[in-house]
Amino acid sequence: MSMVAFIPKKCAVCGNENEDVQEVIDAVPFGPMDLDTRPAENLRSALPYLIQQCSFCGYCNSDISEEIIDDRSLLETEEYKSIIDDEELPDAARKYLASAHLLHKTGNLHRSAIESLHAAWVFDDLGDSNSAISARLGAVISLRAQLQECYDENLAVILLDILRRAEQFDLCIMISESIVSMGIEDEFVKSIVDYQIHLAQNRDSSCKTVADVDLWETDKNKL
Ligand SMILES: [Zn+2]
Repeated sequence: MSMVAFIPKKCAVCGNENEDVQEVIDAVPFGPMDLDTRPAENLRSALPYLIQQCSFCGYCNSDISEEIIDDRSLLETEEYKSIIDDEELPDAARKYLASAHLLHKTGNLHRSAIESLHAAWVFDDLGDSNSAISARLGAVISLRAQLQECYDENLAVILLDILRRAEQFDLCIMISESIVSMGIEDEFVKSIVDYQIHLAQNRDSSCKTVADVDLWETDKNKL
């Protein structure tokens, strides 16, 4: 069971001391992670507590004592306010999307994608598949921009799962094939890419773990 502590923390943007900032302690994943890197329990259920918000200026980040933005005006924009003030959004998703927005604006594309993905997981847990797809598409935008700046095979493989879970099956297959054509050295990474192609061809957008890749490989070899 993961534990949440409430600790005082100074906001890096406005400098105010927040009295009770949630922080997860003692959360270690046991078991195979999902193909989009979502950890197993008990870190999995700590998801709503892995994002912080300053109660004074509204700054959202995984750690509000870390300065992501040096321009406080980003918190005053209509775009940021429309996310942070959206009462229709679940609390954790709202904070993750706000953080993703700031990270994207400041060029932290990889981290922005991960925060959008965190929001998608919140929606997954609530069974809100449309919002989950929309959050994943936000992650896709940041990740594709990041990959264009600097190609990274592991990141590209995570993108495949995000695309498939967002029901972008044809794009998932197209990018999978281009990863294969570049040559994959690691056997397990190759298996993941083959598995994603298989799932996307079958229009399967369900959640899969790294253990499912092994099972699929074993079953395939039996045929
Ligand atoms: Zn603040």
